Amino acid sequence: MMTNCPECGATNTLCKPRFDDFLVLEFTDADYGAVHHLTVTAYMLQHSSKLTREGWLHMRGLLREFLVEDKPPQYVRRQNRDLVDSGKRKFKISSKDGLPVIQKSTWTMTILDVRAENADAYCEDVSAWARAVLEEAEQIMI
Ligand SMILES: [Zn+2]
Repeated sequence: MMTNCPECGATNTLCKPRFDDFLVLEFTDADYGAVHHLTVTAYMLQHSSKLTREGWLHMRGLLREFLVEDKPPQYVRRQNRDLVDSGKRKFKISSKDGLPVIQKSTWTMTILDVRAENADAYCEDVSAWARAVLEEAEQIMI
């Protein structure tokens, strides 16, 4: 039986395979890769069981810096690198306990709303999705 994702609400939990496909696309085509930092943070914020509480808050802060404070690409790249390099952080980002940090399973947009037929549509939709996620994530008190 197919069920919707308990975290982002995507039909038949198609969010995970879509995320994996998009990462491949972003790593193989730089025009798609331009929004990689948004794809990862938006997806992770919607799937909080992969994160610690501190990790979720950190991701939300990063998304705000990307979208609202409009940080330059060099800054974004450095942040992305620091996210991967756990030796530089004082806290753990990812969690393996499978428990969601936030209690939310309905969102205005999910990764399934992102069109991928060309890079322009893709970047536009990933940005819209990330903005919707930030707006809703900022309503959540944790
Ligand atoms: Zn999902």
